[in-house]
Amino acid sequence: MQAPAVGGVRVKHGDGEVVRLARGASLTDFAEKVGVDPASLVQVLFHLGEMVTATQSVNEETLQLLATELNYDVQIVSPEDEDRELLQSFDIDFGSDEGGEDDLVKRPPVVTVMGHVDHGKTKLLDAVREANVVAKEAGGITQHIGAYQVTTEVDGEQRAITFVDTPGHEAFTAMRARGAQATDIVILVVAADDGVMPQTIEALNHARAANVPIVVAVNKIDVPSADPAKVRGQLTEYGLVPEEYGGDTMFVDVSAKSRINIDGLLESVVLTADAALDLRANPNMPAQGIAIEANLDKGRGPVATVLVQRGTLRVGDSMVAGPAYGRVRAMLDEHGDPVEEATPSRPVLVLGLTAVPGAGDKFLVVDDDRRARQIAEKREARARAAANAKRRARRTLEDFMASMEKGETQELLLILKGDVSGSVEALEDALVRIEVGDEVNLRVIDRGVGAINENDVNLAIASNAVIIGFNVRPAGKAGDVAEREGVDVRYYSVIYSAIDDIEAALKGMLKPIYEEATLGQAEIREIFRSSKVGNIAGCWVTSGVIRRNAKVRLIRDGAVVVDNTELSSLKRFKDDASEVREGFECGLTVNGYNDIKIGDIVESFELREKPRN
Ligand code: GDP
Repeated sequence: MQAPAVGGVRVKHGDGEVVRLARGASLTDFAEKVGVDPASLVQVLFHLGEMVTATQSVNEETLQLLATELNYDVQIVSPEDEDRELLQSFDIDFGSDEGGEDDLVKRPPVVTVMGHVDHGKTKLLDAVREANVVAKEAGGITQHIGAYQVTTEVDGEQRAITFVDTPGHEAFTAMRARGAQATDIVILVVAADDGVMPQTIEALNHARAANVPIVVAVNKIDVPSADPAKVRGQLTEYGLVPEEYGGDTMFVDVSAKSRINIDGLLESVVLTADAALDLRANPNMPAQGIAIEANLDKGRGPVATVLVQRGTLRVGDSMVAGPAYGRVRAMLDEHGDPVEEATPSRPVLVLGLTAVPGAGDKFLVVDDDRRARQIAEKREARARAAANAKRRARRTLEDFMASMEKGETQELLLILKGDVSGSVEALEDALVRIEVGDEVNLRVIDRGVGAINENDVNLAIASNAVIIGFNVRPAGKAGDVAEREGVDVRYYSVIYSAIDDIEAALKGMLKPIYEEATLGQAEIREIFRSSKVGNIAGCWVTSGVIRRNAKVRLIRDGAVVVDNTELSSLKRFKDDASEVREGFECGLTVNGYNDIKIGDIVESFELREKPRN
């Protein structure tokens, strides 16, 4: 449909038509979706006051602005949805088992150990690993690959359990943040001599948010001051009621150090899995799962521990893991032994990928190497675009300078935080008194005493402000958020250095003043016609110097006929020259101008930046 032109540009308008775009999409992506020429979108945006190129990735606000103007409904798609759609475009349904009920086979539970620092997570993982050495005649678990599988006897049956060997909440939440849930059951470790502590609660909340059942390991019962009953009481208050009190959570008293009742803990994990979960997967399909950890090994190249969630992974399979792909060259288990295939819930170390995937990246096996590469490349491009869009969305002091040079920025917004109110006031006072003329403006949008907190960072994100911390640091997650979102946070302990920096930024924000310096002149004495490069001017340098890379103008009878252009060639006889001095002959062509005449003057000049005072 043709619609009213925007700023003279005719573009197809939507009737509120929905356009789904990935975070960090470019105008070309948008144009492709609605079937128009990308150049026309560039023009529309230009008339709306935004200058972007067709292929540059733009932020969400800009896309929305364009969409509103053209009457489309832009929906920015989350990375998870996007990945799902990407895989769907390859006819792959990630995350579901092929076939029906009959194809599903029981799989072992995958366990993550969480709890307060020093309550014994690491020790417990060691103990579990070692307890299993007895069961296995072949050596112990010698390799740290980020996950391992053990077996335990329950009701006369050998049952496997997979442990994710990276204690700590970060790994768990980082994976969840990527929409990847590896864990079926959380073992919450609580030291019986210390009781419930802040990170115990944090872990509990993470597990609950993920809807994962918990088995409580009441640890350190070998310590004389241990009080396991107290731990039960405390956790009951948080809604985690022990079975013996009529609840449905299993509490197991253990000592990781003295290796007491580790088997009991393993049994409880199996029983909880059987009671609360229906853990089944189809082993007869191309493998899918997630990368648990990965690194670049000097000798072996990228190595990744992956957890198979469904299907069976085999040596020789073509796989994609996040932005990495490749043919599985070899697989090793936690004993360092080669394995030929890995079934659901089996963690294996995979060799043969082209790059190192991230923890929590989804992996899958595809028909052939070509598809693997295509998917990996798309994922990679998407990740890059998203990162670019994010980076561009925020401003740093340097960005201010850069955008000022282009004549865009007018206002620098600041958030001030200091250790005492006196210093914040002094800083604000001094900053607002910086004199840089009318073209730029500085505004303090918030100030306060105390550490830089998440509120400050969020405000900076929302308003593109720079945060100045005077004798203070970020608190809690504020630093991480600022880092992740690209917020410029500057720390000072001397008022003058803060003022100097801001002043420099503001001065940099001023448009530079240029003055012209004439380098020399040459007169056109002859014209050579060339079918290849057009008309070549045979010149005589009458004064100064003609420089290949300087600006030129063409003067005819005292009037400028072409101004501010460049030379496309400058030669002395047959050779390219970077400059030709007074009294010498040269041949030259003027960029984009062919209509030269004998007697024309070619003037070479350059623009020099004039320093401001
Ligand atoms: P994490 O921070 O939760 O990984 O805790 P660690 O596993 O590093 O254990 C912290 C400290 O507690 C270490 O000094 C361990 O030796 C000790 N520890 C862990 N489990 C036990 C236990 O069952 N009994 C005793 N007495 N000490 C333990």
